[in-house]
Amino acid sequence: MLSPFIWATVQDIKREYYTYYKQPPSPYEQFEVLEYGPPFTLATYQAYLRKVDRFKDDYDQRFRDLRKTSSPNSEEWRSLNREEGLFDMIYDIEYSKRLPYLTFSRCPFCSTLIQKQFDPFDTSGTAWHIGPVPVNIDCPHIFVLQGALHLNGHAQPYIIPKISLYQIVQPGPEVPFVLPRLMQFPQMRLVISSLPIAEGRHTAYILTYFAEPRPPWVEASQDWCRSSYSTRGPEIYSWAIRNDAYDYDLEPYLARGQIYWINPFDETYTVQTSPANDCPYVNLPGKRERQRFVSGQVQYIGNPTGSPRFIDPW
Ligand SMILES: [Zn+2]
Repeated sequence: MLSPFIWATVQDIKREYYTYYKQPPSPYEQFEVLEYGPPFTLATYQAYLRKVDRFKDDYDQRFRDLRKTSSPNSEEWRSLNREEGLFDMIYDIEYSKRLPYLTFSRCPFCSTLIQKQFDPFDTSGTAWHIGPVPVNIDCPHIFVLQGALHLNGHAQPYIIPKISLYQIVQPGPEVPFVLPRLMQFPQMRLVISSLPIAEGRHTAYILTYFAEPRPPWVEASQDWCRSSYSTRGPEIYSWAIRNDAYDYDLEPYLARGQIYWINPFDETYTVQTSPANDCPYVNLPGKRERQRFVSGQVQYIGNPTGSPRFIDPW
């Protein structure tokens, strides 16, 4: 299976690759330009999942048959392996290309709508592992996009039955929270919005940080569902993991005018700045602890301590 990390950063890699190596395109680059169809609806997404499941069943059967007549070192075996790998890649690309474009937020400084490609159908597709996929937007203020996922009383996260699901998904706590470290920048604004997931079974709270001017990237934090962030430092692929503390008490930040919001189901995505009492995201009931979904079961993993400031991945 193509690594989700490579999948997420393929555009960057491609640019660097051409610049430095001037090589012909890889199979991925060739498949990437194919037409894959319009963005998924629930029905076409389910049809896609059935197609992928049939593909996996079919290859499992072909490998079982081949085991009877040839060894894993044989040319037949290697050729079937390559073929399966290429189809895997094509289906991954189809998933990424056909993710719906969803409006997550709006910049309070330049009014740009913040759109991302994301998987709202359940909680176990690749997009829940790597986070919402950026689309080209022209806003110089967006800094960090964090989030929470309220299960709305369901005991487990909703999953459409399928063969390939991501084993570990980290969608944050159930209710909105603040990263106090980012709010220490006086120009930082947090815009809270919401997004129905799995046809409203769950609710995502989108926590988007904007600043004018934006602090250096090294001061950012990992985005929603992700475990690291790019520091965009002098090294091409420098990255880091923040251990930022969470604060679930929104009111002091609202009182200071650092939290804005977009009302649920507001199709105009109007950024509301006051009065603080009208903010619909304060004191919501729900679990104030990070969730981790492991094979579709929810676990609670506490809150980050804030110390040390960085987690050393090595
Ligand atoms: Zn902006």
